[in-house]
Amino acid sequence: MVQTLSDTIVALSTPPGAGALAVVRLSGPDAVAITQTLFSKKNLAIQPGHTLHYGTLRDPASGQILDEVVAALYRAPRSYTREDVVELSGHGSDFIVRQILAALLRQGARLAEAGEFTKRAFLNGALDLAQAEAVADLIAADSALSHQVALNQLRGGFSNELRELRAQLIKFAALLELELDFGEEDVEFADRSGLTRLLSEVQGVVSGLLRSFELGNVIKNGITTVIAGRPNAGKSTLLNALLREERAIVSAIPGTTRDFIEDEVSIDGLRFRFVDTAGLRDNPADEVEAIGVQRTRQRIGQAALLLYLFDLTEMTPAEVQADLGELTAAHPKLPVLVVGNKQDAATPAQLAAFAQHSTQGLTIHTIAAAPRQGITELQEALLAQVRGAGLATTGAATIVTNVRHARALEAAVQHLGAVQQGLATGRGTELLAADLRHGLGALGEITGDISSDDLLTSIFTQFCIGK
Ligand code: GDP
Ligand code: ZN
Repeated sequence: MVQTLSDTIVALSTPPGAGALAVVRLSGPDAVAITQTLFSKKNLAIQPGHTLHYGTLRDPASGQILDEVVAALYRAPRSYTREDVVELSGHGSDFIVRQILAALLRQGARLAEAGEFTKRAFLNGALDLAQAEAVADLIAADSALSHQVALNQLRGGFSNELRELRAQLIKFAALLELELDFGEEDVEFADRSGLTRLLSEVQGVVSGLLRSFELGNVIKNGITTVIAGRPNAGKSTLLNALLREERAIVSAIPGTTRDFIEDEVSIDGLRFRFVDTAGLRDNPADEVEAIGVQRTRQRIGQAALLLYLFDLTEMTPAEVQADLGELTAAHPKLPVLVVGNKQDAATPAQLAAFAQHSTQGLTIHTIAAAPRQGITELQEALLAQVRGAGLATTGAATIVTNVRHARALEAAVQHLGAVQQGLATGRGTELLAADLRHGLGALGEITGDISSDDLLTSIFTQFCIGK
C-alpha cells in the first residue's frame, strides 16, 4: 500500500465553540513553513523540536492581526504523527479559529479529514490499528472503567500478545508452503505435533480474548438492567430516583421502541443501562398489552441483570415467588435482584411477612422509591450483584472492546479450528496451509499487519476532525 503523505494537513483539535483555548494543529512536511508565513517575532524554521514559541499570527493577505498564540513545535519523527507538527494554542473563539484556518489553507495547508492525524500516525508506524481504535474509544470513554480499558489497549496490551503468537504461526505456515514447493515428494518440514501444540495454545488465548469481549461490551455499553414488575409497582418512580441520585448522568436515550424507556447511570464508575419495561400481568387486558409483555420477556433475554420490583402493600411472598419463577424460567442463570417497594406505606405485618421470607433464602431489598428511601443501599446491592456475577472487574486485564476485533477473533478461531481438525484427520498440506493462511489473516487484521484500504477508511472516518 503506497500512501503519499506529502501534503500538510490542518484542523482545529479542540472542541468547537467558545473556550479558554483553541488548538489548531498542522502536520506534514510544510507544517513549520506554512505556520511561519503567518507567525511573527521568531524564525520557527531554525528552532528545534519540543519547544514553545510565543508570537503573533497575522493574515499575510490583509496584514490583519488574527491572534496571539503559543506555537508548540515537534520535529519528525518525534511527534504524534511522526511528521513535523505545529500546535497553535490561541484564544477559544470560533470566529478567530475560522480566520486562522482560512489563512493557513490559503498558504497551502489542506483541511484534515476525520481521523486523519491518527491515520497518519498509524501509516507512519507510530500506532498499530488496535491502538488507533483505542484512541477513538478513549475520546468516547465516559466511565472510569471504560477509560482504563481503552488506555490499556492504547498501550498495546493485547496487540503484543497476538503478534507474538502470530509470528510463531507464520513460521509454521512458511514451512508448510515450503513442503508444497517440493510438490510430489513426500517431505515434512513442519513438525505436525509442534504445530498442534502451538495451535491449541493460540486457540486458548484467542478464545479467552473472545470471552473478554462480553465483559468489554459491558464496560463500553453499560450493564443492561431490566426493571420488571406488575403495573404500579413503582418502576418508573424507581428509575427516576436512580437517575436523580446519580449526579453523573451519562445520557438519556430515547426508548428504542415505544415500549421501553432506557437511561444510563454511572454508579461508582460502572455504567448501568436501565430499561423500564411495560408492566407484567398474568392476564394481559388486550392484545397490545400482551405484545408489550412478550417484548418485556425478550428484553429480559438480552439483559445482564434483572431487577424485579413489587409493591409490598399489594403482593404476598407466594405471588412474588410465582412472578419470579415465570420471569426467569427461560433464563435460569440471569442474576436477579428482588426489590420490595413502598415500604413507607406498608403495614408492620406486610413488612414482617417479607422480612421472614428474606431469611429463608430469597433476599428482598426494601425501598420506598417515591420518597427515595433505600436507594443508596439498592445501588450498593446492584454493584455487589454485578461484581459477584463476574460482569465487571477493575483490574485492567486484556479486554477486547471492539466489535471488529471480536469478529476477527471469531474468524481466527474458525480457521485455526479447521487446521486443528485437518491435522487430526491427516488432511493434505495444501488445505492445511490454506486454512492457516486464513487464520493468520484474521489475526493480522486486528493489529493492522494486514489491512485493506476499505478497512482503514471505515475505521478512521469514525474519528472526528482534528484527531
Ligand atoms: P409503574 O407502573 O411500575 O411504572 O409504577 P409508577 O412508578 O408509575 O408508580 C405507580 C404509583 O405508585 C404512583 O402513584 C407512585 O406515586 C406510587 N409510588 C411509587 N413509589 C412509591 C413509594 O415508594 N411509596 C408510595 N407510597 N407510593 C409509591
Ligand atoms: Zn411505568
